[in-house]
Amino acid sequence: MQVTNASNAREVDPAGGRIQRSTSLVEDVYEAIFAQLMSLKIAPGSRITVDSLVKELDVSHTPIREALGRLEGEGLVLKTHLIGYRAAPQITRRRFDELYELRLLLEPHAAAKAAASMDETKLAVLQESAGGMARREGKDERLRYSNFARQDAIFHDRIMEYANNGLVRETLAFQHTHFHIFRLMFHSRVTEEALDEHQAILAAFAASDPAAAEQAMRRHIEHSRDRLLPAFD
Ligand SMILES: [Zn+2]
Repeated sequence: MQVTNASNAREVDPAGGRIQRSTSLVEDVYEAIFAQLMSLKIAPGSRITVDSLVKELDVSHTPIREALGRLEGEGLVLKTHLIGYRAAPQITRRRFDELYELRLLLEPHAAAKAAASMDETKLAVLQESAGGMARREGKDERLRYSNFARQDAIFHDRIMEYANNGLVRETLAFQHTHFHIFRLMFHSRVTEEALDEHQAILAAFAASDPAAAEQAMRRHIEHSRDRLLPAFD
């Protein structure tokens, strides 16, 4: 798979200029490797050799090293001195249970708080980011799946932002929860069912109904857990 100009929707930086062209190549390389990690083409725990990525993506070493460094920061890639890179191992069943327990303790309550302070602007932002997951189309299933994982992370993080507790938001963000759980299974069910659950959360936000938001978030997290549990069979 060659890296083409996949990220044509470049964002404009606050100063008004376009983001430098040189970052675009790193970005494309990053997206390509990210998609392979999320879709399990690069299996959890497996070695990642820079040389083989150079060949496969037809780019030089530099953007690949930069992209791997960024993935390391996101907990998806581990670098060992003198040995090199490998994909982060799959989370254990115990860790999975702990993550979902943490999410269930924090996110439903945060959703209720976000609903209590919901306004048109915030609702529009959330609808936009939920819509981004539904709209994604394209032939590359891996890329679609990895985009969904990222958008889901952003959607949940925005709700945490609106819940207005920085520590709760940081705690969840630090776990890179969505990257780990989406890597458990590469299946359209993981994404399709979540869309309806997100709509239920949005409906509660639209009605500024904290109790409904809490319940919809709890249901979404419980269902997400149940969808992914078979990965441990
Ligand atoms: Zn979600």
